[in-house]
Amino acid sequence: MSILEHKGVWVFAEQRAGEIQKVSLELLGKGRELADTLGTKLTAVLLGNNVKEMASELIYYGADEVILVEDELLDVYITETYTKVMSKIIKEKKPDIILMGATALGRDLAPRVSARVHTGLTADCTTLEIDEESKHLLMTRPAFGGNIMATIICPDHRPQMSTVRPGVMIKQERNEERQGEIIEFPSGLAKEDVNVEVIEIVKEEKQKMKIEEAEVLVSGGRGMRKKENFQTLELLAKELGGLVSGSRAVVDAGWMDREHQVGQTGKTVRPNLYLACGVSGAIQHVTGMEESDLIVAINKNPSAPIFELADVGIVGDVEKVIPSLIDELKSVKV
Ligand code: FAD
Repeated sequence: MSILEHKGVWVFAEQRAGEIQKVSLELLGKGRELADTLGTKLTAVLLGNNVKEMASELIYYGADEVILVEDELLDVYITETYTKVMSKIIKEKKPDIILMGATALGRDLAPRVSARVHTGLTADCTTLEIDEESKHLLMTRPAFGGNIMATIICPDHRPQMSTVRPGVMIKQERNEERQGEIIEFPSGLAKEDVNVEVIEIVKEEKQKMKIEEAEVLVSGGRGMRKKENFQTLELLAKELGGLVSGSRAVVDAGWMDREHQVGQTGKTVRPNLYLACGVSGAIQHVTGMEESDLIVAINKNPSAPIFELADVGIVGDVEKVIPSLIDELKSVKV
């Protein structure tokens, strides 16, 4: 089969308990750009049970059409059912490109689907572009421990599949004027297809807001010296209406849980303000926060690499600078 038969850019619209995940809206933003460059359609693929009313949201965020597959058997995510349905639609409709969020669900689904449809998958992409000449998708991601950026192509197979972490791409403005088509597609699933039964879903107790969603992040590094000193960061974050995050060094030291780690093996964040406190600015950390709007760094070493990136740099001891900042913010509020 010729790869030329494959047309269109697809975004897998991940929903959990009836809520579309932010990363899918971000991917619609990137997908819109790619589809416009290729002069093709942007399609969102929505699987679930009673999820129809979410389809128009996907159009408001950039999709030209939504392939909607509703079935009781798709009510909760099961690798087997979702893989079967996705592979079936892909084989029938032959898209050129498929983007999925690099979430727990996307990381489970994308490799299985790519194997079923015999194509390649590039995980955790940070840049996606179309090659002007060949029209292949150029999928760029950090490689070799973040020391180089590798651009990967999938020239002989289709679809070209890529996962992208939350917070990397930018969603479009929601526009209720946008019109699009909703195409209902049969799941083709039978009860016998399901070998796994979900008996209970137990949600882990989590902080209400995720660091990827915070507008202000106060991030601590090894320079904070000990776990107890993170209480000062909590106070500062509270004053600024933000959350505390950290480098891998502090996670490895057991001062913070992994959910709050920023960087290549942690979360990619894009807050309005990123305050780096005692963080050196290693490439693997910077990869996860360099797109922040305003970066303020506090470090006692004037040659720390974080200062090359920071918009505002404070050379000083975190144990002195942070309490002064908190006092200053409190006095401004009064
Ligand atoms: P350090 O590098 O030890 O820096 C501490 C900084 O604090 C220094 O600049 C020092 O000058 C300053 N300091 C010390 N005392 C004070 C003080 N009193 N006041 C002010 N400043 C002070 N790292 C991540 O963060 N995220 C990742 O996702 C990640 N993924 C990785 C993946 C791979 C494959 C590898 C190999 C590494 C990864 N790392 C990651 C680790 C990364 O290379 C660095 O080791 C790590 O980011 C360093 O953390 P840090 O800046 O907190 O500590």
